[in-house]
Amino acid sequence: MRGKLVVGNWKMHGGLRQNDALLADLRAGWQPADAREIAVCVPFPYLWQAQAALSGSAIAWGAQNVSEHPIGAHTGEVAATMVAEFGCRYAIVGHSERRAMQGETDDAVAAKAAAALDAGLVPIVCVGETLEQRQAGETKTIVLRQLAAVIARLGKRMAQMVVAYEPVWAIGTGKTATSDQAQEVHRLLRDHLRAADTTAGDVSLLYGGSVKASNAKALFACADVDGALVGGASLKADEFLSIAIA
Ligand code: PEP
Repeated sequence: MRGKLVVGNWKMHGGLRQNDALLADLRAGWQPADAREIAVCVPFPYLWQAQAALSGSAIAWGAQNVSEHPIGAHTGEVAATMVAEFGCRYAIVGHSERRAMQGETDDAVAAKAAAALDAGLVPIVCVGETLEQRQAGETKTIVLRQLAAVIARLGKRMAQMVVAYEPVWAIGTGKTATSDQAQEVHRLLRDHLRAADTTAGDVSLLYGGSVKASNAKALFACADVDGALVGGASLKADEFLSIAIA
């Protein structure tokens, strides 16, 4: 059975002092529950801080991106092996903000997922459609196209990734997909993964997009929603922990 995984994406938020408080509150407040796991994905400079604050706890941590390259002349990039040195379990790849603002292509995202796996990290691969694409009836085409690149690149290793369905129109907007909308896309992703490789039918599928304590329970009740990728609400320990136990 797939347990629930709730991952916080701090995005470009934080500072040494506020991180200390947030990490300490998470550590003090998290009562590990059966088949529930939580993690925080922090900006690169704070990976050491997450490691120091969370080592020995039941909370995992990770990065929000990795380079598709293993090493070399890539100024400003951070290799997955570097991230792994800080005890990370996860690396988000292909977040819609990076696809839109840094021009990350499906192939680049797939290469990042492979680089993460090579370094022993679990890639959390984000897929999702814009509002225009949804309104044009293209949701299925878009998410399956994004997923196809990763499937082609990872082959059998696809079973080791996590996929986050994050409709772009729901990220940071306060608009959450309804349970039916989330379940419909998660089911599609699950069926597609299972068809690609029988072992991939159990890949954890997270929903992301304005998840809050007030809507998490309904989303988690969906048969194919295995947890959440949480942006804004992960910056408040109480709210994030309430989501995690919803
Ligand atoms: C995200 O950035 O992955 C996200 C889901 O953000 P928010 O929860 O703030 O919509």
